Amino acid sequence: MKRVVIKVGSHVISDDHSVSEERVAHLCEFLYDLSLKYEVILVSSGAISTGQTKLDIPRTTVVNKQILSAIGQPYLMEIYSRALAKFGKKAAQLLLSAGDFDSRKKTNHALNVINGLLKNGIIPIINENDAIAISEIVYGDNDRLSSAVSFYFDADLLVILSDIDGYYDSDPRENKNAKIRHLVTSLSDEELNKTSDTGSKHGTGGITTKLLAAKFLMDNKKDMFLASGFDLSDARAFLLDNNQIGGTIFKGEQ
Ligand code: ADP
Repeated sequence: MKRVVIKVGSHVISDDHSVSEERVAHLCEFLYDLSLKYEVILVSSGAISTGQTKLDIPRTTVVNKQILSAIGQPYLMEIYSRALAKFGKKAAQLLLSAGDFDSRKKTNHALNVINGLLKNGIIPIINENDAIAISEIVYGDNDRLSSAVSFYFDADLLVILSDIDGYYDSDPRENKNAKIRHLVTSLSDEELNKTSDTGSKHGTGGITTKLLAAKFLMDNKKDMFLASGFDLSDARAFLLDNNQIGGTIFKGEQ
């Protein structure tokens, strides 16, 4: 079975101040359908938004975000566990930081756990370990972590479900004539160095961290697919019917 990593940004599963159980339910239905064809690993943001429903402190400082993440993470897992249970699936939690993959020993320990969970039909749900690593809550919203997860845990494909339905030739929020690029086989330094976009209200990464994730995977002969997380039909068609209707595939040299 091929192995896929699905990364969902906080914006995709959060309404204004909280995680939307309805959106998580849709996502879990998709994960279940995928699990019939693939080994599925989920990288999910959303702990901070969930924490804010439990403790009303502003998410204006890094330490407050860490506090909210620590509070929200178990509730977020509860929401996932409940939603997956409807499909007879169980979730497991792994909190990692990109730096953990610098150690071959740590990576092997984690890979053994991932392999064991997948063999038992359980969906690993990964988030950054925000109490000790802050790079993803400051910059990245798990885009970078998900590319490391995909590479080091031997996935065939990373799928980023975003608030945007693909990679455009310019920012579609600024340029109405922006055109989607369905296939990308290389990324220039100029594209990667663009820092003008700051991403959505809930997200922190914007397109740049997604392109950096794609570049890392392409350099390592792996693929990444970027598609809408609000309307899952493009991701469904691509993964379940082998049919690319929308979205952007970033293709590494095979
Ligand atoms: P998420 O929260 O889903 O992880 P972000 O909101 O952080 O995603 O980043 C996606 C945003 O990046 C899009 O909504 C879009 O406005 C912006 N963006 C800037 N340039 C581009 C581009 N060339 N193609 C697509 N999106 C772009």
